[in-house]
Amino acid sequence: MPIDLAPDPAVADLAARTAAFVREAVVPVEVAHDGVVPSEAVRAELQAGAREAGVFAPHVSAEFGGHGLDMVGRAAVFEEAGYSLLGPLALNIAAPDEGNMHLLEAVATADQKQRYLAPLAAGDVRSCFAMTEPAPGAGSDPDALTTRAVRVAGGWRIDGRKWFITGADGAGFAICMARTAGEPGERGGATMFLVDADNPGMHVGRHIPTLDESLYGGHLEMEFADCVVPDEAVLGEVDLGYRYAQVRLGPARMTHCMRWLGIARRAQDIAVARAAGRRVFGSRLADLGMAQQMIADNEIDIAAARGLILQACWELDQGRSGSQSVSIAKTFTAEAVWRVVDRSLQLCGSLGVSGDILLGRFLREVRPFRIYDGPSETHRWSIARRVVGRHTAPAPAPVPA
Ligand SMILES: Cc1cc2nc3c(=O)[nH]c(=O)nc-3n(C[C@H](O)[C@H](O)[C@H](O)COP(=O)(O)OP(=O)(O)OC[C@H]3O[C@@H](n4cnc5c(N)ncnc54)[C@H](O)[C@@H]3O)c2cc1C
Repeated sequence: MPIDLAPDPAVADLAARTAAFVREAVVPVEVAHDGVVPSEAVRAELQAGAREAGVFAPHVSAEFGGHGLDMVGRAAVFEEAGYSLLGPLALNIAAPDEGNMHLLEAVATADQKQRYLAPLAAGDVRSCFAMTEPAPGAGSDPDALTTRAVRVAGGWRIDGRKWFITGADGAGFAICMARTAGEPGERGGATMFLVDADNPGMHVGRHIPTLDESLYGGHLEMEFADCVVPDEAVLGEVDLGYRYAQVRLGPARMTHCMRWLGIARRAQDIAVARAAGRRVFGSRLADLGMAQQMIADNEIDIAAARGLILQACWELDQGRSGSQSVSIAKTFTAEAVWRVVDRSLQLCGSLGVSGDILLGRFLREVRPFRIYDGPSETHRWSIARRVVGRHTAPAPAPVPA
């Protein structure tokens, strides 16, 4: 069977233009602001630049102003955007908006697409995805969902608390997961609701101080209290929220991997440039064996992560669930990216831990990825259960007495 790994020429061209735009227009802004977008004005400026460069919103369909990339196509372009912490925001492919656009395109009604997807894809509003709850609610185990929505005349009333909701500060709307059937701990029975920011029952609370700071809009606590929404606020069908969560989460896990792979490459480029220029013990650092080992291990981690991402994306593009490949790629990439940034920082010595270059910032930004989108342990548990499930041997015959 012939295997063609050559990228589609149109995708390769978009990836090249994205790479050029990010290096020329985004990296200088990122360096000037230590990787954290300081204001709406800067966000708008970056996005205007991406629009002008013809690289804006590459993942949404042409109907909503994008390039309609499939998952394999996104892998090439998102990695280039991820070369800067601010590249994804500039292209309007940052979390959580990018995942929400994907979900809305797949599940929303025509009216919901006009009301929510169109302004989101245009960069006119931002959004958030509210699923995780403080203990004992939903976290690694989504079945623990406690936020509840009950039927009221003409709609639903949502009550519950969420936390770590990225981008909630300034979001125009939230996609909220709430239990519409069953009890916490039971499978199924969740529904997704579109809740407008001006709903008096939706409260955006405290910014949670975190290791990472570059995801725009922060990570916040939210409360839904007597939050009444009409029937039209239901996204998809009632009680099928977990199914739609899979529509969002598989691809969203991969797009996070793609973006962070871009940062791993950037870290490697910074470290190699430093190692090639720095002289120690009478030679270039880059010519010493243990430094070369770190450089080679970085290349291996980057190449392996890219290969696993492509495999999972290809499966998703075939309409398969890709669950096993997504878990493998997510776990490996989250840990590989951390290793690459950590080795790169080591190669740069004290310069690496200084604020004069961005490696310390990158390290802080990539660490939480081993927790969100499913902690490594949860994915390993799922991977192993699938493997063990396939190899369950019949019970051995009883030994005769
Ligand atoms: C920076 C950041 C941004 C986030 N953004 C969002 C967002 O926008 N929207 C949203 O809804 N959520 C968001 N989250 C929440 C994220 O999805 C959860 O943190 C994640 O699902 C883990 O849940 P938890 O934090 O409750 O950890 P817990 O469920 O308390 O798990 C704690 C630890 O238990 C271990 N563990 C878990 N499962 C297993 C297992 N099967 N076997 C052994 N050990 C296990 C892991 O080490 C895990 O880290 C974000 C989190 C972070 C850190």
